[in-house]
Amino acid sequence: MPEEGLRLLPHDEILSYEEIYQVVSTAVDMGIGKIRITGGEPLVRKGIADLVTMISGIKGITDFSMSTNGILLEEFAASLKEAGLQRINVSLDTMDPDRYRAITRGGDLERVLRGIEAAKKAGLFPIKLNCVIRKTSGEIDALGVARFATERGFPVRFIRQMDLSRGQYGIVEGGTGGNCRICNRLRLTSNGHIKPCLLNDAAFNVRELGIREAISEAIREKPEAGLFSLDNSFYHIGG
Ligand code: SF4
Repeated sequence: MPEEGLRLLPHDEILSYEEIYQVVSTAVDMGIGKIRITGGEPLVRKGIADLVTMISGIKGITDFSMSTNGILLEEFAASLKEAGLQRINVSLDTMDPDRYRAITRGGDLERVLRGIEAAKKAGLFPIKLNCVIRKTSGEIDALGVARFATERGFPVRFIRQMDLSRGQYGIVEGGTGGNCRICNRLRLTSNGHIKPCLLNDAAFNVRELGIREAISEAIREKPEAGLFSLDNSFYHIGG
């Protein structure tokens, strides 16, 4: 999130849960099996467990997960599991509470750790940790996260810090993200754009084109590799 804050989208630009449900149903009908709810931070949206309930009822989803910063996870873990979420990815860039506070502009590491415990207790499995690194997983913060992950048996993925406008990105260590050769992901933004690639400004609006056409166009326009993106920021489009 930028230090200076965000321009909030007008309410009527944001897809309703019913609209998101329709997009996901159509995508599943067209052959997509893996669904992940990301953000911004999904747990701050009011009634998020209701959306999880709606999506988990769609037949044909083989993998249903959520990425979160974990700050509200203690409060939500049990209801997410009950609503049908299978697994969860939690962002964790350091095990040092002061560094965590600095990186997240005031976040409380203890709360996140309690959230991870609550997710484990609720039966969300596997719990994967996402750790952003500057250059290598040998950095001090990453080593701390790796130690915690090993002790607790959580898979961890190290994600090179990206610069969307300069086209800097890399293959995720321990995961499949960032590898253009095998990337088949599409993203739906909160205001209804289907994006074929993070590092590309192509976007197809489901309200303007219709859902099926927007998805088809995004698949057709999937680039061979990402270049750069001037329109996007991660807090808008998710990771
Ligand atoms: S195609 Fe785009 S979204 Fe997929 S890995 Fe490459 S840069 Fe990332």
